[in-house]
Amino acid sequence: MQLKKNQLVDLTIESVASDGNGVGRIEGMVIFVPFTAPGDVLRVQLVKVLKNYCFGIVREILRPSPDRREDGCPVYHKCGGCCYRHVRYESELLWKQQSVTDNFKRLGGIELDFESIVSSGQCSGYRNKAQYPVAVDEQGHVRIGFFARRSHRVMHCTDCDLQPAFFAKILDCIAAFIEEKKIPVYDEKTHKGLVRHVYLRHAEAMNETMVCLVLRSAKLPFAGELVERLRAVCDSLCSVVINVNPSRTNVILGERCVTLFGSDTITDVLCGVKVQLSPRSFYQVNRRGAELLYQKAAEFADLQGNEVLLDLYCGAGTIGLSMAHRVKRLVGVEVVAPAVENARQNARINGTQNAAFLCDDAAGAVRTLAKEGLQPDVVILDPPRKGCGEDVVRTVAAFCPQKIVMISCNSATAARDCKLFGELGYAVTRGAAVDLFARTAHVECVVLLEKAKQRNV
Ligand code: SAH
Repeated sequence: MQLKKNQLVDLTIESVASDGNGVGRIEGMVIFVPFTAPGDVLRVQLVKVLKNYCFGIVREILRPSPDRREDGCPVYHKCGGCCYRHVRYESELLWKQQSVTDNFKRLGGIELDFESIVSSGQCSGYRNKAQYPVAVDEQGHVRIGFFARRSHRVMHCTDCDLQPAFFAKILDCIAAFIEEKKIPVYDEKTHKGLVRHVYLRHAEAMNETMVCLVLRSAKLPFAGELVERLRAVCDSLCSVVINVNPSRTNVILGERCVTLFGSDTITDVLCGVKVQLSPRSFYQVNRRGAELLYQKAAEFADLQGNEVLLDLYCGAGTIGLSMAHRVKRLVGVEVVAPAVENARQNARINGTQNAAFLCDDAAGAVRTLAKEGLQPDVVILDPPRKGCGEDVVRTVAAFCPQKIVMISCNSATAARDCKLFGELGYAVTRGAAVDLFARTAHVECVVLLEKAKQRNV
């Protein structure tokens, strides 16, 4: 059968792709359909027909999958943030576990029995950080929220279910302030206007909140009044910061920060470690989930007390510092300078004396450390989505550490990097997926690589 655009077809969903789309087949042709679940029998309209696969949208649910539930979000189909709101969380977890296992097998050639996926079970209000684009609609009203799916149109939404409920009050307060004071909102097409993004961060353990306004320049009219209004709506407000981003870019944060009120940082506690955070420091968005992830990493590392531990891509130092009391020496590496400052400060406030942090690109740092004669016994790798890449993998393997614990938010690049480690004498011996991003397609994984007993090189 020749499939055509806009054609209606009846389809049974068989599985779920790692981006959350349901997968069905018609005569061997794969059809991806968002917001569906295995077991759904659907009438689907084909919206894109390509050579080997199609995309469809649901026109009618002929028989619903037993995995379905109410999605409970008025903007679910428009926003693009979540893809698993319409299914039971237990099913979502199983699919995530499967996608991690499949990626390791398909992209890494690694057959591993992943342990049961770990989750805190918290499916709403878990995000401690969110960045909201700001725009003005045709009627001149300020819009704060999220980009609509696959677009740069800002959809007004201040009460996302994944954020702490009180974030909405802050966002509503800022929207009203901008509108009332006629503060110009940034327009990415003309590169004019002032207010680009609102960025909120909450340190759950210490109940401290940071409001960061990303502006094109550092001067905000009526700034003092905004601070007073924010204090009135947010009891936990500890810091109001302007981040200056003058560039024509879709990177959200600029280099420079100016504190308007309170402290330059907020402090959280993660795995018993106090963590001070600047606006530009990476910090896991789901604190309870991150604790489970780092506990799993510690279990895999199984430190005995006399090791040299290298924490590459260390951010504000969180993972290494949570293990520092179990090693002889900790060296952290991170490319973002304010995060490194946070890491050093975090070592101080936690009384950790056996830690040093280096501000450098991972590949360069590893080479420098090797020249200096560092011999790490255990290496923690926690790279961004694009993974470590060949250069870092080769230089890390050249250290010959006994163990490498790799944490990743992208199991596809993790699998690729592990494959190369495999060629360099390391075997993946344990693995677990940890869900820090309930309702979305994202999932973390952590694997243990151990030096193979005998190298057949
Ligand atoms: N381990 C930390 C941070 C992990 S996120 C934590 O769990 O909180 C990945 C980190 O890698 C970010 O802090 C990012 O700034 C840093 N990074 C990205 N590319 C890098 C590179 N090439 N070299 C060193 N660090 C890098």
